[in-house]
Amino acid sequence: MIIDDTLYDVVVIGSGAAGATLAAELAQAGRRVLLLERGERLPLVDQNVGDVELFRRPRYHPEQPWFGSDGDPFNPQMVYALGGNTKIWAAVLERLREAEFEGVAMQDGRSPAWGLHYGDLAPWYDRAEALYRVHGQAGEDPTAPPRAAAYPYGPRPMEPVLEQLHADLSRQGLRPYHLPLSWSESSADPIGDAELFGVERALAAVTPAAVRSGAVVEALHVDPSGREVKGVEARIAGDRWLFQGHQVVLAAGAVNTAAILLRSAGERHPSGLANDSDQVGRNLMKPQLTALLQRASSPNSGRYSPALGLTEYYWGDKNVDYALGSIRNGGGVLQDLLFAESPPLLSLVSRLLPDPALEWLADRSITWWAMTAVLPDPENRVTVRGERIDVAYIPNNREAHDRLVYRWLDTIQKTEADPATTVVQRAPIYPRGEAPLSVMGLACGTCRMGSDPASSVVNLEGRCHGLENLWIADASVFPSCPAVGPGLTVIANALRIAARLEAELA
Ligand SMILES: Cc1cc2nc3c(=O)[nH]c(=O)nc-3n(C[C@H](O)[C@H](O)[C@H](O)COP(=O)(O)OP(=O)(O)OC[C@H]3O[C@@H](n4cnc5c(N)ncnc54)[C@H](O)[C@@H]3O)c2cc1C
Repeated sequence: MIIDDTLYDVVVIGSGAAGATLAAELAQAGRRVLLLERGERLPLVDQNVGDVELFRRPRYHPEQPWFGSDGDPFNPQMVYALGGNTKIWAAVLERLREAEFEGVAMQDGRSPAWGLHYGDLAPWYDRAEALYRVHGQAGEDPTAPPRAAAYPYGPRPMEPVLEQLHADLSRQGLRPYHLPLSWSESSADPIGDAELFGVERALAAVTPAAVRSGAVVEALHVDPSGREVKGVEARIAGDRWLFQGHQVVLAAGAVNTAAILLRSAGERHPSGLANDSDQVGRNLMKPQLTALLQRASSPNSGRYSPALGLTEYYWGDKNVDYALGSIRNGGGVLQDLLFAESPPLLSLVSRLLPDPALEWLADRSITWWAMTAVLPDPENRVTVRGERIDVAYIPNNREAHDRLVYRWLDTIQKTEADPATTVVQRAPIYPRGEAPLSVMGLACGTCRMGSDPASSVVNLEGRCHGLENLWIADASVFPSCPAVGPGLTVIANALRIAARLEAELA
């Protein structure tokens, strides 16, 4: 074992939305930060794929499979890279609504309260939006929570066909809004991400962070009292390394953070570190996602970002008073990698169609995503067997999701029937498909936060119960699953934890 003899102020594990953001804050505050990341820099050519390649190659799937409840292996759709999943995200950065922090009526029960309130995160949301250069339009989304000021940047222009659809949907009495997007100043790489707004900032700090890519953290080691992490063990290019820090932050994403804790079982913590409550790995959540294709009347570019959101059915509809979820356009077919993962819709189509036909389909369709939250279920969980990761997962709130999909189908058909609508037209079928288990990029909840050590893994500040210097900053701490992307909340919460850590180190 090679021992790094530097004693860092903070060792951060994982350089995604949470880890890179937090590392940058602490490095900028003058702390000695070590950022350990298992992936490497993702080449630009692999980041902005906008062609049929997306469907042809097994892109964006780490080689190591995970195993589902049936014991079958699957390759999760995600990346291990500097910047984590933000390197391939759609960069739609929305706030959770106030009520989501308090608990929401859902089809299968009530979602748990966070212990935190919207007001606790609001200033961190402001800062997160500024750091990630979020472009949006305040006041349009009828369910958006209150905000202190306008978005840092005005909304991005929409593809003309979407601009027209915005007007068409508004005529139906709906309130479509410009989706808030993280957008950089780089024309070569315009979509904002945690490499740019986290890793690069950490490297440019007065005390630049030490960034080790290709470093797979395998376990954490505690002192004899069992209350303090003394070492972080990582595999780098075939060697075993040990790193030490006053504080250690896990930010390896919802599945890998839980896996690292479970693999760190030892004499003092036989069922895994921070797992006296037996909650580590449990309550895995990921939103239900269905993609739906609408026929466009004339060709469009087929390559554009998500731009249009709708939350008319966020809290329910005329028939039910439980939450159904959100709708957004999916971006161009050849630009939105979630489509490539959504059988039987396009993954099957793409295998059968020749390239020009796939291009044709992309140019003549508008894509939509319907997203419904799930409830935490302790039986939906991550477990480990040595190197192997098992993911037991059965989604709930199924009927709510079906209702959302049918409600949206009904809405777009009404829009098409309006003689003033010209950019979309009636079609005999609306191909659709639900994202399978392998779509894990929006996962959360395996190390939930709470004030009761018997039912949660970290306290409301992000510190692991029973451990003095171990923190969790990533999506795994979410007590409930939002029906909008989790990214902005992950970033805001990481900023909040960074401020708490800075106070601890001072
Ligand atoms: C295709 C796709 C589209 C998405 N679109 C959106 C969107 O539009 N809006 C939104 O809000 N969210 C979106 N998301 C979700 C968003 O990317 C995640 O919620 C967010 O990145 C989670 O942040 P995190 O810090 O928890 O984890 P991640 O960003 O996944 O970061 C975890 C990091 O830890 C590293 N790591 C893992 N294991 C180890 C280990 N053992 N040792 C060292 N390093 C390790 C990983 O390589 C990674 O860099 C999308 C995700 C995907 C995949």
